[in-house]
Amino acid sequence: RAKAAGRGTWRVFAAEMEAEVQARLAIELDLREAMGRGELELFYQPQIDLLSGRLVGCEALMRWRHPERGLVPPSRFIPIAEDLGLITAMGQWALHRACADAAQWEDGVKVAVNLSPVQFTTGDVVLVVSEALRHSGLAPYRLELEITESVLLQDNPATLRTLQDLRALGVRIALDDFGTGYSSLSYLRHYPFDKIKIDRSFVSEIETRPDCAAIVDSIAILARTLGMTTTAEGVETEEQLRLVTLAGCTEGQGYYFGRPLPLNEMTLLHHPGNNAVGGA
Ligand code: C2E
Ligand code: MG
Ligand code: MG
Ligand code: MG
Repeated sequence: RAKAAGRGTWRVFAAEMEAEVQARLAIELDLREAMGRGELELFYQPQIDLLSGRLVGCEALMRWRHPERGLVPPSRFIPIAEDLGLITAMGQWALHRACADAAQWEDGVKVAVNLSPVQFTTGDVVLVVSEALRHSGLAPYRLELEITESVLLQDNPATLRTLQDLRALGVRIALDDFGTGYSSLSYLRHYPFDKIKIDRSFVSEIETRPDCAAIVDSIAILARTLGMTTTAEGVETEEQLRLVTLAGCTEGQGYYFGRPLPLNEMTLLHHPGNNAVGGA
């Protein structure tokens, strides 16, 4: 009996795996065509200076508008694009798109673009960034590149060179999702970051968990001491806003300020002096 049940369980499991493999294959095939068909889009989410309440930048977040599947989130296609080597071209497209968009915004408002670790090992990311800046005419200081610790994990001397070359272009570098992954404090000393983005997992529990509050406090103090700014990611409530401000974070990003939206819905960006942000 146990044996039969075991076999039955296996058969269900195998069928599920088979379905998953098929679903992934279908996505892979479509993803190869997505860029050429113009199905990729950038949404933008506001980043707010906590002291003044002013909009200081927007993070570009990729979306795939699939004809049948609808709006596909990055978690569903970025890892596949990385496996297939498509992310290099997609990342290049995103840099050009984001810089061109930001060049139309109120002066001084920055745009943050996520870079995949794969972009550091394939293709010339420094050249791609400099071309995106040149084509758009965007002032380099208005472009911020977000990288995750996994880029640094490769522990490749070329990575440090690349980050230094990017910074020499005048763009800013932010360390994304800090505190998850393999955070090592030595990264902060060895690599040229302008900003630390404190992972949403700490911010979302800052009200209820003293350990999360302590971690946010410590990162904010450390960053300030090292001359870096900090963004609290995933701020959803007024109380979280109060606590991350109290901790000394310099910027906030999250649904409380606004969700990621298509460019044409972020109308307020075009009105200088308007303190409100697009698309709450
Ligand atoms: P990320 O760079 O850490 O971006 C922040 C993510 O948190 C976004 O998810 C955003 O929608 C979400 N978020 C922001 N505020 C809140 C909040 O208050 N509550 C909650 N629950 N979520 C919030 P999204 O857009 O699904 O992107 C997920 C990840 O995909 C990004 O994480 C980034 O790692 C990656 N990604 C997105 N666009 C690109 C891209 O153009 N290139 C690369 N390589 N990766 C990208
Ligand atoms: Mg990011
Ligand atoms: Mg993040
Ligand atoms: Mg993330």
